[in-house]
Order: sequence, then C-alpha cells, then structure tokens
Amino acid sequence: MSEAVAQAVAERFTRLYGAGPEGVWAAPGRVNLIGEHTDYNDGFVMPFALPHTAVAAVSRRTDGLLRLHSANIGDDVDDVDDADGADGADGAGGVTELRVADLAPETDRGWTAYPAGVVWALREAGHEVTGADIHLASTVPAGAGLSSSAALEVVVALALNDLYGLGLRGWQLARLCQRAENVYVGAPVGIMDQTAAACCEAGHALFLDTRDLSQRQIPFDLAAEGMRLLVVDTQVKHAHSEGEYGKRRAGCEKGAALLGVDALRDVPYDGLEAALERLGDDEEVRRLVRHVVTEDERVERVVSLLESGRTREIGPVLTEGHVSLRDDFRISCPELDLVVDTALAEGALGARMTGGGFGGSAIVLARAADVETLTKAVQEAFARAGFTAPRVFEAVPSAGARRLV
Ligand code: ADP
Ligand code: MG
Repeated sequence: MSEAVAQAVAERFTRLYGAGPEGVWAAPGRVNLIGEHTDYNDGFVMPFALPHTAVAAVSRRTDGLLRLHSANIGDDVDDVDDADGADGADGAGGVTELRVADLAPETDRGWTAYPAGVVWALREAGHEVTGADIHLASTVPAGAGLSSSAALEVVVALALNDLYGLGLRGWQLARLCQRAENVYVGAPVGIMDQTAAACCEAGHALFLDTRDLSQRQIPFDLAAEGMRLLVVDTQVKHAHSEGEYGKRRAGCEKGAALLGVDALRDVPYDGLEAALERLGDDEEVRRLVRHVVTEDERVERVVSLLESGRTREIGPVLTEGHVSLRDDFRISCPELDLVVDTALAEGALGARMTGGGFGGSAIVLARAADVETLTKAVQEAFARAGFTAPRVFEAVPSAGARRLV
C-alpha cells in the first residue's frame, strides 16, 4: 500500500510546486491501549501505531520560505477518502506561504500551525532549517482521539531531520513536536502522542515511562493469537474537552501538592489507601488520584501479561480502566459507554474508551470469530439510541514514522 500512496502524494506535490519532492515520509496515528491521563502525571502509557498515516512529500528551500499544503483541507479535514491527494482542487490553490524567520507562537489558529510549529521548534532549538515545500495527505481521522495532529507534526519533523541531516533520534523529534504543539499551537498536550508516532514498531505496543522517556517495545501480535482489536470512532467531537482537560490536570496537580509528591506517579499503588485518607473529604481530588494511581498499576499489569504471553487476559484490565475513567475521572460520555457495554454484553474480552475523553474512540478486544457480531451489535445499539453511526475499523499494531521514498 505505501508505495502507491507515496507515489500519489509525490505526484500531487509535483503538480503543486512544479518539481518532484526530495522524498516522501509517513507517520502514524495511534491508539492508547492503556494508560489514560497518566502522561501529565509522569506516569506510564502504552500506545501502539495505527496503519493510518500522515504522509508528507517534502523538498528543502534555501530562500527562507515555508510553503504548506494539505490534501485534506478545503473539503473536510477528516475525509479519509481524500488522502490519495485527489481532492479535486488542482494546481497551486490552497498553498499557504510563510517566512521561516517570521514564525512566532500562537500567531496561527489554523491547521498550518502544526507543521509550521515544527519548523519553528527546530529553528528555536538551533537547527538550521532554511525553508521547505510540503504537501501532506493523511488517513488519520482528525479529532477522533487517534492523534492526527501528532502524526502531522512527526512526519514533518522526520522529513526535515533527514533532509537537513540533523541527526535527531525519535524521542528527540517527539520532544520538539510536543514543544511545537504546546508553545506554537498553544495546546497543553503530553508527550505520548508524538513519541508513539515517532517510536512505535509493527507488532508491538510501546511501554513508555513519561517521566524519563525510557521505553520498551512489548510484543502485541493479536492476529497470531486469534484476536482482534477494534476501534470504534463514535464521531462525537470533543467540543468542551479542552476546559475539562485543564480541570482534570489542575486537580491532579492539586492532589500531588496535597500529598507532597512531585507528581501522582510517586504515589505507590500499595500506598493508595493511605494517600486517599490523607486527602480527607476532597472527594473530587480523591477520585482523580485514585484513577491515576490505579491506571499506572494497570499499565504495569498489561505489560507483564503481554510479556508472559497471556494476551487474552488483558481484556478485563482494559475494562477496569474504562470503569475508572467513567466513574472516577468522569470523562466518558453516553456514546463511549454504549460501545463498551454493548461489546461486553456480546462477549468482547475487554473494552474501554481511549484518548482524552468526552467523545472520540473506544477500543474493543475480541476473538476474531466474534468481530462481525460485535460490530453489528454496536451499530444497531447506536441506531436504536439515535446516535450518529460509528466508524468501526480494525487496528493492527503498525510501524512508526519512516521514510517511504
Ligand atoms: P487529534 O490529534 O485527536 O486528531 P487534534 O485536535 O489534536 O485532534 O488535531 C486535529 C487538528 O489537526 C485538525 O483540526 C487540523 O487542524 C489538524 N490536522 C490533522 N490532520 C490534518 C491534515 N491531514 N491536514 C491538515 N490538518 C490536519
Ligand atoms: Mg492531537
């Protein structure tokens, strides 16, 4: 698949900019298997890469210009069918032209802030990037909790790293991309998404310690075990999620301060009851702390199950994670709960919401033989509830960012 995609993206680049690109790169979206809202608490996460990618055709420029184009803009950003570059608007229409020397944080509210932010972050870190022509096309659905933004950032960072010979490692690119999103775009995101896009490997999940960025590739080959992992995109966009995210984050920081630790990561699982007692009657902070501390423990449990070949047994741990996000962290929504409840009633091994919450996607771990019935049951439940039809697809743990051509 990647050869045909790379060729289509390169051809579109040539039509836009009048000459072929120097190369074509890809970076994936991700699903977080377990470890939700732990990243800003210095805790553990465990994403794996999707087969869906942002693809970038890129050439260097020496005149200080940055020219940007996306096949997914103009129509609908998350229209995955446009990702082959055939969005109808031919020629140079829709190209945004910027000067690299003028790039400044929070001056751009549009999609171009993501790639431009990466150029800004590289230059701010002292890397000599003198301009670029970039054409992007992505099959990662935007705003579905699958991290289309990090895919976009990381693919641009990797392309510039290669073309300008910067010699940066995956985790370093991830840090720069996070800085681009935090400072240039102005979104207070953790390090998970960018690290997943940069560092994941096919057939593996990435066990990442967000405190020191140490990582381990954990074998996660579901097909070999007769299992499948489904992603159910509820198509509910997380509209109020920014404010709610800020509140949760502030609550976690308050909990850490009250407990006298740097981050909730430092509350040991076997010290949880004592910690909750110390928090007294601040019920909200108690719930947030309980979620984060138990969630870190769930990540460690999933790692040890996968490393000892007991893949099927992670199902109930995923479900526990959902209950914690729903009842303690309180970031689920009726659509996500309906996916989880329906899937479990139909015999799924485990299910949970994934991503920031208030919409986006849920994941379902199922026996291969049950996939069809499960999918149908979820679709029918959504129709009965009067919800928008969900998008269901299989997530095969795929490769991280790479050069295609
Ligand atoms: P998520 O990362 O969960 O998909 P975000 O809100 O963080 O959601 O990022 C989505 C934004 O990223 C979009 O609104 C758009 O600005 C940008 N984006 C994602 N994919 C593309 C694309 N292919 N082309 C242009 N912009 C994109
Ligand atoms: Mg994002």
